[in-house]
Amino acid sequence: MVEKNLYVTYADGSEELLKDQSIKENPVAFVYQVKSDYPVDFQNPFLQSIAKDYPEAAITCVHLNEQGIPQASFDWRIKKAFIDTTQSLKAMSHCTRLKVCCLIVKNNRIISTGVNGTPKGFKNCDEVFSPTERLTKGYYERHHQFSEAYEVHAEMNAVLELGRNTSIDNYENLELYCSTCPCAGCAKMIAQSGIKKVFYAEAYDRMPDGAKNLQDFGIEVYKI
Ligand SMILES: [Zn+2]
Ligand SMILES: [Zn+2]
Repeated sequence: MVEKNLYVTYADGSEELLKDQSIKENPVAFVYQVKSDYPVDFQNPFLQSIAKDYPEAAITCVHLNEQGIPQASFDWRIKKAFIDTTQSLKAMSHCTRLKVCCLIVKNNRIISTGVNGTPKGFKNCDEVFSPTERLTKGYYERHHQFSEAYEVHAEMNAVLELGRNTSIDNYENLELYCSTCPCAGCAKMIAQSGIKKVFYAEAYDRMPDGAKNLQDFGIEVYKI
């Protein structure tokens, strides 16, 4: 069973569990505890309004396992900033059905990026499927066939780019951020690359198994 609790600490040192959304004067820190299996869903619109209303307050996410033992904790603002970056950079994708961006982060620095698309020099998805073509019957199926054959997923582009970057001396402590949850195929590749943490914003409508498969590989998966 999933359990979610938001705690607040005030400047006078007092602490409380927020039952509704009424925050008193001078909050200095928020802790959002989620007790759940992976993928752990930290998405909460209220955290976004807190971040805006109290820019100086710390917002920490804590993941508890079924026994209530803390598994991980992190600064929500930083993770959210990377996820927001994927949402902005996905505009670079030429895919007509779903634009996806992936970042690989080490020690809070972005060391690789990728969007989904065809290999360099090959025609782009938006050159094949014009705006009118996209309104015709059977577009999704035709796009699916084209994409399976010619489009590289954002995660794969980011991992390939990481491999080209010789300044990265090892693959330890890498985090992957993706605007859409990785598919089962990318989950295998991510596991093999050594990445141990994945953060994503939206479920992948067409291939929903990716999050479960990442978890099967022992990767921590967070929706944020
Ligand atoms: Zn496409
Ligand atoms: Zn994929």
